[in-house]
Amino acid sequence: MSSTQHPLGQWAVVDIETTGADSNYDEIIDVGYLEFEGTKLVKKYNSLVRSEIPLSHFIQKLTGITPKMVAKAPRPEEVIPEIQELYGKHLLAHNAEFEEAFLGKFFDEVDDGLQRESYEDSLYFLALLFPHFSSFKLENFIVDWGLAQKEMHRGYEDSVDLLKVILIATRVIHDDKARFNTLHSLFQKYELKDYWYYKFFSLDRVSLQEIADQIDFDLENHVKIAKEKLEATQAPLDLRPKAFSFDFTGQNIKAIYDNEEVVKNRLPHFRYRKSQEDLSLRVGQAFKNKVHALVQAPTGTGKTLGYMIPAALHSIENQKQVLIATGTKALQHQAMAKDVPQLRMLLGLDETELRVKQLVGSGNHLCELLFRQSLEEDDLFKDQKSFQDKFTNMYFDMVFYHNAHAISGNQILRADLPFVFKKKSKYFDDKESELAVDFRACTGKSCPFKNECSYIKGLREAKDADIIIGNHSLMFSWPKSFPRPEYIVVDEAHKIEGETTDAFSYEVSAKDLEGLNKSLLHLQGIGSLFYLLSQHEENEGESTEIINFIRSEAMSLQRMLADHLVGLPDKVESYFKKMPRYTSDYWNELPMIKKGANDQLGKNIYNHLDSIRHIVSELLKLMMPYSVKWEASNLKNDNEIIAFTRFEAFFGHVSDIATALEFGLGFPDYRSDYTHSLKYLEAQGFIMNSCPINVGRVLHDGLLQTSASVVFTSATLGNAHGDQGAKGIEWATGYVYTEPERRFKSGFFLPATYDYENKTRVFLCDDVPSLHSHDFIDKVLGPVSNVIRNLEGRSLLLFSAKTRFEKAREYLLSKFEGELPVFVQGMGNNVVEEFKNSGNGILLGMESFGEGIDVPGEALQFVFIDKVPDLRMDLVINDRREFYESNIGNEFTDYYLSHRTRSLHQKLGRLLRTEKDYGGVIIVDSRTRNWKGKTMEKVLKLMEPYKLVRTSLDSACKGVEEFIRH
Ligand code: SF4
Repeated sequence: MSSTQHPLGQWAVVDIETTGADSNYDEIIDVGYLEFEGTKLVKKYNSLVRSEIPLSHFIQKLTGITPKMVAKAPRPEEVIPEIQELYGKHLLAHNAEFEEAFLGKFFDEVDDGLQRESYEDSLYFLALLFPHFSSFKLENFIVDWGLAQKEMHRGYEDSVDLLKVILIATRVIHDDKARFNTLHSLFQKYELKDYWYYKFFSLDRVSLQEIADQIDFDLENHVKIAKEKLEATQAPLDLRPKAFSFDFTGQNIKAIYDNEEVVKNRLPHFRYRKSQEDLSLRVGQAFKNKVHALVQAPTGTGKTLGYMIPAALHSIENQKQVLIATGTKALQHQAMAKDVPQLRMLLGLDETELRVKQLVGSGNHLCELLFRQSLEEDDLFKDQKSFQDKFTNMYFDMVFYHNAHAISGNQILRADLPFVFKKKSKYFDDKESELAVDFRACTGKSCPFKNECSYIKGLREAKDADIIIGNHSLMFSWPKSFPRPEYIVVDEAHKIEGETTDAFSYEVSAKDLEGLNKSLLHLQGIGSLFYLLSQHEENEGESTEIINFIRSEAMSLQRMLADHLVGLPDKVESYFKKMPRYTSDYWNELPMIKKGANDQLGKNIYNHLDSIRHIVSELLKLMMPYSVKWEASNLKNDNEIIAFTRFEAFFGHVSDIATALEFGLGFPDYRSDYTHSLKYLEAQGFIMNSCPINVGRVLHDGLLQTSASVVFTSATLGNAHGDQGAKGIEWATGYVYTEPERRFKSGFFLPATYDYENKTRVFLCDDVPSLHSHDFIDKVLGPVSNVIRNLEGRSLLLFSAKTRFEKAREYLLSKFEGELPVFVQGMGNNVVEEFKNSGNGILLGMESFGEGIDVPGEALQFVFIDKVPDLRMDLVINDRREFYESNIGNEFTDYYLSHRTRSLHQKLGRLLRTEKDYGGVIIVDSRTRNWKGKTMEKVLKLMEPYKLVRTSLDSACKGVEEFIRH
């Protein structure tokens, strides 16, 4: 077959490296491609490109390309014609938007009005093949499938690696016949057969091998490696016979810890820690006596296993479920992967004897019923849909295919969806939120998709579990099909204030209102009501009149809504732009405009929103009689169930919008125990928000009062002496509102596991430029670099803003590259591991990156922090501070300062990871100059057991060095 006949046509795999990301300013410095005609390799091209733009140290480090190499490289005039040879061809690239932005202008120059080049983005293709991957970084594939240790970030090498990845991916799917056939039929269904990748996907084994041979690639071997990686399952645990009694008594808990030898035999890394035993005993006492508790268990306590032991004994003896609510889904996974197997090993209990299941809230699952119905409503095949719309629908179809076949725990949840597509496509972003399970609408056992549904599977398993591993938000949105456990451990309890705020706030955004307008315009949701009405006629045609009436009312409400939405966004924008400190980078916030506002613009906005409130409440009234008309159990067939669920989900969504509007605008009464605000961000529009001020009361009423025992635990609830800094937490958790006989008298503060006082030196320096000044990095990192040099690396630097991080990256690379190994967040997947192994490295990243770093030993002895963490200064926090001062205590120390020092404690936790570790910390923040007298005394107290020394940056640098040397 000639190339012109071959379905693949003329194509090339291409990759470029540039001086930076801005295609209007930056230039290409390296380009590589492999050009094919059909399956025949016709050209390999690889060249550096000369550029006058100075090469940043970051780019040099990332690519290995030096200014010298670029200076000697062929001139652009020599390279551009080689690039232009690709005009009109299919260009395969990973995240092809980048290549398109830089290469497009060269193709414009030779545009002859005929077929232009088309960019085939491998991200989309890989997502369709592997919908269960949450990240599609090329480096992940390269490393996981054994192609190389890391991505080279060079034009030609990356092109070759990308081609290898695509060959492996295609072959792996070819060998999975069921998945292959499903994909094949979905490409047809979604009319993506003209998509170049479909043609690649359809190549036979011989053709794939032919391509591989021409690049000397051992495809078979790498397909084997990829399959092993994809199929890797956890080895079953080699459980020992039971060695302990399962009595739920303090004596028995002690007996477990007393038998260190037996425990070590089962858990080789176990080492006795009194604090861990004390934690287990306190949780046991709380559950036994049905009282609430606060337990601070510092880093190194072995907290998770510590509370899981009494949780397991309690659930076995009393047959009562225990809910463990972790702070994040990542911690849920960690508990399941690491701590639950340890618990099983320790107690010798298999999965039938101790049933531990993971559960996430309904909104984290994807509803297949809503997806199938939305396809119907979108009338996919009638309108011409864009590639991204078709891709999105096909991708979600593959997600549901995957979920139907995956074992529990491996199903795809909303949080697993690749972020990159939410950024690339608004349609994708909207679709994923539209498909969130709404537990109010789900008909469960009547639903035709129930057998494959991740939500229903999760619930079924959780119902029978002894221990449920959930997260904070799940406590507040507990499924209606079984009662919430009465015994709860809330881990990462220092985050509970934020979670409670989110769970009990009312919010409606411009995006919600626009979505409602669109749904009404296309009769989505309400169309399902028409279907139900027409199916439940006693006499044929009797519903026509009522359907016509509802349609005409709904259309008229939609027109009114649309009218208000035309003018409102501009008015809100003008309203916010009058703010003296308006910013286009972050959310701006103002108190919600009240009825009778003085200024004309405010009045206008209020009137629009009030009219919208009225429209939405009319819509709700229109639908209300039908929301209670049918029961799922009385419906006749799947189509009716689908229509019923869709209508109920729509009704629920409208009633959420109505409630948020009424709450925010003061109907029927203005709730003074809430902070009502209007937020605005240019890229997102506005949000009306009502947040509870007294979170403690909310948590008490919603959780403590309705549970037998809730244990709040965290490494940082207060400081080493507990009562210092923990008062704010006692309020935020609702502990202060609990009757004395229903709780321990005070929190339980386990002593620090490591000797923070003597093994660390923490310096706070305020003689530095302001964080935002242009010379901050130079002035601060100058002296700090000397410390790093004298310590021979072993340093972690954390930055709270991207601009400072990027400047610091340039600064440190220019100083140390070639002298000490510098590892930078974002440059590869294993930077922390590489830093740890180097023993003399410098690691830098953003502060959130620092949270997961665990580097024990001498590889890390110095931590630099660019700023004392702030407490968000939004309106509800201000109201809480006022409330605290009037009702609870001293807000400045108990609430404001405690919040900030607690966050600082969390950051300092990176330094000591074992008993032998020691090291120094420098925090630079000119704003702390205001901390004087009593405030400073309080800060020092709150930071205990760390000895915080306030001094100049120069002395701090000397202090760190001296301390580490001696
Ligand atoms: S069982 Fe409920 S959540 Fe699952 S697909 Fe059906 S309606 Fe959606």
